Amino acid sequence: MAGKTILILGGGWGGLTAAHHLRGLVSSEHRVVMIERSTTFSLGVSNLGLMTGERESVRHIQRDMAKLKRPGIEWVHAEVRGVDPATRAVETDAGALAGDYLVLALGAELAPDSISGFAESAHNLYEATEAAALHDELKRFQGGRIVVLVAGAPFRCPAAPYEAAMLVEAWTRENGIRDQVEIDLYTPESIPMAVAGPAVGRALCALMDERRIAYHFNQQVTEIEQASRTVRFADEETSYDLLIGIPPHRAPSPLKQAGLVDPSGYVPVHPQTLELLSDVNTLEVQYPGVYAIGDVAAIRLLNSMLLPKAGVFAEGEAQVVAAAIAADINDQPRPGVYDGNGFCYVEVGDGLAAYGTGNFYAYPAPRVTLEDPSAQGRRAKQEYEQLLDIWFDT
Ligand SMILES: Cc1cc2nc3c(=O)[nH]c(=O)nc-3n(C[C@H](O)[C@H](O)[C@H](O)COP(=O)(O)OP(=O)(O)OC[C@H]3O[C@@H](n4cnc5c(N)ncnc54)[C@H](O)[C@@H]3O)c2cc1C
Repeated sequence: MAGKTILILGGGWGGLTAAHHLRGLVSSEHRVVMIERSTTFSLGVSNLGLMTGERESVRHIQRDMAKLKRPGIEWVHAEVRGVDPATRAVETDAGALAGDYLVLALGAELAPDSISGFAESAHNLYEATEAAALHDELKRFQGGRIVVLVAGAPFRCPAAPYEAAMLVEAWTRENGIRDQVEIDLYTPESIPMAVAGPAVGRALCALMDERRIAYHFNQQVTEIEQASRTVRFADEETSYDLLIGIPPHRAPSPLKQAGLVDPSGYVPVHPQTLELLSDVNTLEVQYPGVYAIGDVAAIRLLNSMLLPKAGVFAEGEAQVVAAAIAADINDQPRPGVYDGNGFCYVEVGDGLAAYGTGNFYAYPAPRVTLEDPSAQGRRAKQEYEQLLDIWFDT
């Protein structure tokens, strides 16, 4: 078979996994091209360590895109501007590219400007530099009201806001100011990590109760007034002295402009093959050879919610897609399909994390369990960062 070109759009958790696996599965006559606008990569999960000061600086958690470890992955440093899935053509600010296969892995874009006052008032936990600045702010904090605000759903890593609240709580205890601090969490969710079911939600509420963290569900922020330090919701408002924010998310604009986004706000894909769908009810595939993985993909579960936006799912989906493309190129039968299994470690402070795991494709709803927090869970969570050593030379 003549040399094929696989274009991977986005070099985040999903794109890097896809590129790394594909390069190992197809011979060197085939090109693995990854288009990524950023010159550096870091795992979002490391932002929590930046916030607590456990990670020293952004520089320590970042890796250089130019130092991809696996030979033969071509990194194109460019901004994707347009995508035509029918012709598998991609427009970038560095020129046009065409592929035999497309893997859309552009993630979910942060949209802090979509809430009036958010960008000026909130410390955005989802940006590494702002998470690091938040640590400096915490060190100056003498007491008052800390609000953790989820400004829209769905958002990446359903556990992260709860982890942030519990880590901040532990930090104020360790630094002797707990009695001078109130911690409140506001979210549009009806329960914590709603997609994982009510038992997991109740377990997280119990963990927050033990730590005297007040939580407020079904609260969609409408605006933030910086001068008076007020967050407004539809029916109430709250004041803050320190505001930790998770901004609204949305699909990257090139995919919206290409008409690939459905009313969920993201790109509907087949739950097992990750190919783009023309009809979510019949699961009819629209563009064979074109896939979307990770945060940008919309996979509707049997409880009508979307598969959460998390790196473990992006990684599992990327592996399945890489194997499917390689099988096609190598003229072999298509291997396994994506099975919807996932896991996470919910950090609760004091060196502990609760291990959650389950099958999100289970009938009639995801079956997920959450263990008690343990030191072992925390150690396992830290192992995520080993991915950096798999993908990059230091
Ligand atoms: C604080 C925090 C904690 C988290 N903790 C966990 C955790 O414990 N476990 C877990 O599984 N997940 C966790 N996540 C979520 C995880 O980081 C994401 O779900 C994961 O990164 C999604 O992978 P992705 O490849 O879909 O998107 P991303 O990793 O976001 O990658 C998308 C890439 O596309 C690039 N891109 C976007 N648009 C363009 C364009 N137009 N042109 C060129 N390049 C573009 C971006 O620069 C980016 O590099 C956490 C996230 C945060 C923020």
